[in-house]
Amino acid sequence: MIPMVDLKRQYQDLKEEIDAAISNVLEETRFILGPNVNALEGEIAAYHDLSYAVGVANGTDALLLALRACDIKEGDEVITTPFTFIATAEVIALLKAKPVFVDICSDTYNIDTSQIAGKITSRTKAIIPVHLFGHPADMDPIMETAKKHNLKVIEDCAQAFGAKYKGKKVGSIGDIGCFSFFPSKNLAGYGDGGMVITKNKETAEQVKMLRNHGSSKRYHHHQVGHNSRLDEIQAAIIRVKLKKIDQFNKARRLNAAAYCDAIKSKNTILPVGASGCEHVYHQFTIRAKNRDFLADALQKKDISSAVYYPVPLHQQEVFLKLYNYSDKLPQSEKCSREVLSLPMFPELKLEEIRLIADVINSVF
Ligand SMILES: *Cc1c(COP(=O)(O)O)cnc(C)c1O
Repeated sequence: MIPMVDLKRQYQDLKEEIDAAISNVLEETRFILGPNVNALEGEIAAYHDLSYAVGVANGTDALLLALRACDIKEGDEVITTPFTFIATAEVIALLKAKPVFVDICSDTYNIDTSQIAGKITSRTKAIIPVHLFGHPADMDPIMETAKKHNLKVIEDCAQAFGAKYKGKKVGSIGDIGCFSFFPSKNLAGYGDGGMVITKNKETAEQVKMLRNHGSSKRYHHHQVGHNSRLDEIQAAIIRVKLKKIDQFNKARRLNAAAYCDAIKSKNTILPVGASGCEHVYHQFTIRAKNRDFLADALQKKDISSAVYYPVPLHQQEVFLKLYNYSDKLPQSEKCSREVLSLPMFPELKLEEIRLIADVINSVF
């Protein structure tokens, strides 16, 4: 059986260090906003060459607190992609603002920047590009449009820790970068976790306050906040893995190259890396017209595959009930019907990749 992600392999490799890190937290007993959260914030800020990083409870809260720090509220509009995990747009709706969806480019699966300007209104306040599957969104035109219309840019980097756009790490280009440490992400804990990064001091202070009940001094509360702190045990685990993240991402790129070498079928479209982009392959996603048939064939050989994502967000029941979307977003709809993600993780073996490719080649 080849799973989408095998977390056991990485744990076996890092067991000694991880167990020691957890055990240290238990000995220290500083469980909430302790020394590991503080150290990880410094290390992740430095990794991105920024001054500020604030740990939060999960990636969804990272986005939510980032939007609140940008003062997004009822009646505002936020431009984003419909081809992403629900969390990206859910947080906009939670604040009673409206997600405005712009179609994607079918080669990178990221927002089609040429269509953003056409969706800007007097209510537009921000853009959330998503670096989907680990491939950076095209940030230059996004930043240019944002500057021209005075919009905030919040990067959803949940799937792209360590990816680079024209030499810069994703998350360090817009006003705010948001990360998730959900167990299957490229940099991950063994539970929920998230991080907000920014070059702006006030934004960092806002998020720090919001994650801790709207308070900067104990029992003095300035605004309605959240309980959304990064857990100390997760921070200790993530610190061990952060030291190896570039190595892990490199292994993912090598695995992707091996897949591209081995898949010969002309009926599948392989993922691309746009020029100037360093992809970190959170997912290895191919496209095929008879995607479901292919998924069945893989399943028969005990190989997992997954559809990210089967329903684009402008067609999700939850949003159709809240907003009357009528726009057709043909690329997103087509990709939802054709994408198939294959097993991908740093420890995936070459012989496993070859086996998977053989099944794909023989199906078509
Ligand atoms: C995982 C993910 C999130 C949410 O992160 P959680 O930590 O699960 O809350 C947000 N956006 C994208 C694109 C994701 O993949």
